Amino acid sequence: MEKKDIASCTLEELTEEMVSLGEKAFRAKQIYQWLHVKLAESFEEMTNLPAALRKKLDADYEIRKVEMVQEQVSKKDGTRKYLFCLKDGNMVESVLMKYRHGNSVCISSQAGCRMGCRFCASTLDGLERNLTASEMLGQVYRIQRMTRERVHNIVVMGTGEPLDNYENFVRFIRMVSDENGLHISQRNLTASTCGIVPGILRLAEEGLQITLALSLHGSTQEKRKKLMPVANKYPLEEVLDACHTYFQKTGRRITFEYSLVRGVNDGDEDARELSALLGHQNCHLNLIPVNPIRERNFEKPDKKSALEFKNKLEKNGINVTIRREMGADIDGACGQLRRKTMQGV
Ligand code: SAH
Repeated sequence: MEKKDIASCTLEELTEEMVSLGEKAFRAKQIYQWLHVKLAESFEEMTNLPAALRKKLDADYEIRKVEMVQEQVSKKDGTRKYLFCLKDGNMVESVLMKYRHGNSVCISSQAGCRMGCRFCASTLDGLERNLTASEMLGQVYRIQRMTRERVHNIVVMGTGEPLDNYENFVRFIRMVSDENGLHISQRNLTASTCGIVPGILRLAEEGLQITLALSLHGSTQEKRKKLMPVANKYPLEEVLDACHTYFQKTGRRITFEYSLVRGVNDGDEDARELSALLGHQNCHLNLIPVNPIRERNFEKPDKKSALEFKNKLEKNGINVTIRREMGADIDGACGQLRRKTMQGV
């Protein structure tokens, strides 16, 4: 029988497990603290548990490991990119960015991705599998253990579509913000989606306070469809309606992400259409000069034209920033390092 993935259990579930084993409920709290505060990696470490219980745990449960395979450090800005190996040999990437306001970690939510965005390296080989909550937590924990520094912010913007792995993703959010665990404020958590409408609407009902980032990338349905196949299924208008519902239900302002691709979506007309699209919304727009990937010939605009694009939007009253490019020298774009290592390309 396969051992249970213990670090994916919420405290309530763990309490039920312990009671069903004939243990006292407080044992669950002790174990949860070992796993999610002290970041233990084995049951032997859990020294305040009776030896018999540790043995029992070891027989029935496993602490899934997220192990470091490779680390790349940017010479430009100190951003660190990690390649982690999961128990079945799948690999995922995470990134650590150090900002003045604290350490921010970008994690992956799936091994691979099936969304097919044209400029993204994560999707080139399709979806391998969903990550469990413990594997998402494990990326954060591994980084915190290695750096011995607390993680303050988490962005779910690595490989994968979080709303395509809905249950595990929401479980992760609840666990990482749980006061019995790392207790990272939900306001410091951001999840990025390519626009899966039913997922956005469901998320709006969860009673969470996380920031939702929507990958927009095109100023009209037609333009968006050219870059993002998911737009065929969920048209822009419906996606924006769902974002508005998310804002109304949660009070959290939406962040829109827009990767600037030279000659594709960075023209005057695009700036005008984008202003009209977002003008009446209380939102934030993040422009990301596209990170070129080897497999596609997309290029980013030069600094001057990116700035001009931003200024045009600003003049139209849009709250807009150009994302500081971090880690561009270390395969910073989603999925590049994973692909390079797994395929030797
Ligand atoms: N699936 C989610 C989250 C993962 S991608 C989503 O689509 O939002 C995180 C962000 O990086 C998305 O906005 C995505 O469109 C963008 N992205 C992917 N590849 C990129 C690249 N090569 N250059 C710039 N941005 C990229």
